Amino acid sequence: MKLILFGPPGAGKGTQADKIKSHYNIAHLATGNIFRRNIKNKTNLGQKVKSILDAGKLVPDETVVDLVIDELQHQKYESGYILDGFPRTIPQAEALDDYLSSKDTSIDLFVNLEVPEQELINRILSRADGRSDDTPEKIKTRLDVYHKQTAPVLNHYKKQGKVKEISGVGSIDEIFERIKEVLDQVK
Ligand code: AMP
Repeated sequence: MKLILFGPPGAGKGTQADKIKSHYNIAHLATGNIFRRNIKNKTNLGQKVKSILDAGKLVPDETVVDLVIDELQHQKYESGYILDGFPRTIPQAEALDDYLSSKDTSIDLFVNLEVPEQELINRILSRADGRSDDTPEKIKTRLDVYHKQTAPVLNHYKKQGKVKEISGVGSIDEIFERIKEVLDQVK
């Protein structure tokens, strides 16, 4: 199963991806986690993207696409994966589709986690993991970026008939139950 887990910042993608990963035993590829790990380890990539993440802006498409395609070569992704935080722009979505179609495959499902804006802001502000981009000002930038550059990706996959809308409001387990209902139909 190849799944895109989509939604605005604070929608709970990381939390739900972890649950999907353990329940279905599939790999989880989170571009934001990869960038944060590289920043922490002070790699070349980390140095290149640090100021972009700190500002709440997007890393250039080419950098992200190269990273994801390289990462997908690992054996752990062979039997399926959850993409979390990617694709985040139309060019990224097109690059992913092209890559997958060159391998005679495609995304099975695109899950959109829907959460009202005020709840997103409250959730991010109460998140306790000390992210440098979790301040009110950065959250505003990230939501703006989401609306302008990322939200169109939803329509891109709607046109392909891949989208399932799921309410991302409620307890973590309630939301996971909704996701399971949808994924169990695809498995
Ligand atoms: P996330 O953990 O998904 O919220 O991502 C944190 C930050 O990493 C974002 O605000 C961007 O700066 C960067 N990032 C993660 N994924 C992407 C992507 N697909 N395209 C561009 N930038 C990304």
